[in-house]
Amino acid sequence: MKTDVVVAGAGPSGSTAAKTLAEQGLNVLLVDKAKFPRDKPCGGGLPLRVLKRFPYIKDINAIESYSYGGYLYSQSLRYKVEIHKQEPIIAMVLRKKFDNALVELAVDSGARFQDGKSVKDLKITSDKAQVTLNNGSHIDTELVIGADGFLSTVARKAGLFIPHKSIGISVVEEFSLKKDAMDQYYTDKRFCHIHSKIHGIPGYGWVFPKQNHVNIGIANYWLRGKMTNDKKNLKEVFNAYLSLLKNTDIIPKNIESTQLRGETLPVKPLEKTYTDRVILCGDAAGFINPVSGEGIYYALASAEIAARVSAEAIQANDTSEQFLSRYEKRWKNDFGKEIKLMLRSTKQWGKRNENIVKLASKDNKLAEMLFTAMTGQESVYELRWKILKRYLYAFMKNSIKKTNN
Ligand SMILES: Cc1cc2nc3c(=O)[nH]c(=O)nc-3n(C[C@H](O)[C@H](O)[C@H](O)COP(=O)(O)OP(=O)(O)OC[C@H]3O[C@@H](n4cnc5c(N)ncnc54)[C@H](O)[C@@H]3O)c2cc1C
Repeated sequence: MKTDVVVAGAGPSGSTAAKTLAEQGLNVLLVDKAKFPRDKPCGGGLPLRVLKRFPYIKDINAIESYSYGGYLYSQSLRYKVEIHKQEPIIAMVLRKKFDNALVELAVDSGARFQDGKSVKDLKITSDKAQVTLNNGSHIDTELVIGADGFLSTVARKAGLFIPHKSIGISVVEEFSLKKDAMDQYYTDKRFCHIHSKIHGIPGYGWVFPKQNHVNIGIANYWLRGKMTNDKKNLKEVFNAYLSLLKNTDIIPKNIESTQLRGETLPVKPLEKTYTDRVILCGDAAGFINPVSGEGIYYALASAEIAARVSAEAIQANDTSEQFLSRYEKRWKNDFGKEIKLMLRSTKQWGKRNENIVKLASKDNKLAEMLFTAMTGQESVYELRWKILKRYLYAFMKNSIKKTNN
């Protein structure tokens, strides 16, 4: 059977690409090295703009709960921003269930799915791309979409991978809790907690309550070279974080870490995300918000763009790098500006975090904007001037108050 497109990786980006391609009548093979349903270390916070852009996700019964607010703490814990809303600020998913539901959607749309099969090799010639799987089988195809996550095999084999100067390393654990305990600690509004630069790390800690689970994690960003020493300590930082959460009554005292999982994530897009017969999307392309570590929105958005460009290329019988370059133009125009802005903001956020949280703790509007940005409700790029103006207003207000006292 002729395969138009092989999609490597069935996370949110791969299954969305496969779904979109199949809907356009193309013959798609989606492969994943893991047996599904599989879990993926993740906070499982699903930004609301995912649901705005991909409204069908509301109908697949994969959303566990919504959070209607939360708390953001400064590094010193002296300042706290509190948000309690009538409307949800973020949705929560369990990745095992969510990713599997997206694969089922792709299959329902007509994509073929093979799990437990990893892409081992990729050869590009003028007349085809050939994918080799771990069982030794070869698949000839017009195009390959690499959605195989950070450190993507497809990116490596296609010559698109470059060693990352910085990476994110995270540890996370999801604890199941009875509904009564969930309601007691997080209320039926499932308030979440975010601790900036917990124990001095250049990242943050989070507590994401779901229906019957609480997801606790730490995201840390490292420059190469410093990695080895810091990596050793992340488990200790996590245990210290659990103690802090217990002492401040954010989690029950009997929670103990038994299944801590670590995962790396990109913090910057690759320099080039396409070549002859190949397009990369999601984490494979390095699409992550470098401040929050949020990547599901970009995974879905890039996959949809990748699938549309692939369909156009096959229709035009032109899978050359020149034709596929429109993919990069489109994602840059779509969410690329936001990632670029966030990359520029990481240093400022790191340096001014204490002061930003302090000002937001005294200014409701700034607090709301901060949460809107942190939970990915809207594009930070679109909000940038509003946030800056409000920050300056809160800053002036605070300075005048200080002078008057
Ligand atoms: C600890 C942590 C917490 C996070 N929390 C959040 C959050 O709360 N909200 C948010 O929006 N984002 C979060 N992210 C980021 C988010 O998880 C990713 O951006 C998202 O999963 C990217 O989706 P993807 O489909 O590109 O890749 P993935 O979800 O990583 O899927 C890649 C798939 O490719 C498969 N694969 C790998 N190699 C091969 C191969 N050679 N052949 C075939 N298959 C292969 C893997 O098995 C996997 O199923 C978090 C990340 C981490 C690490």
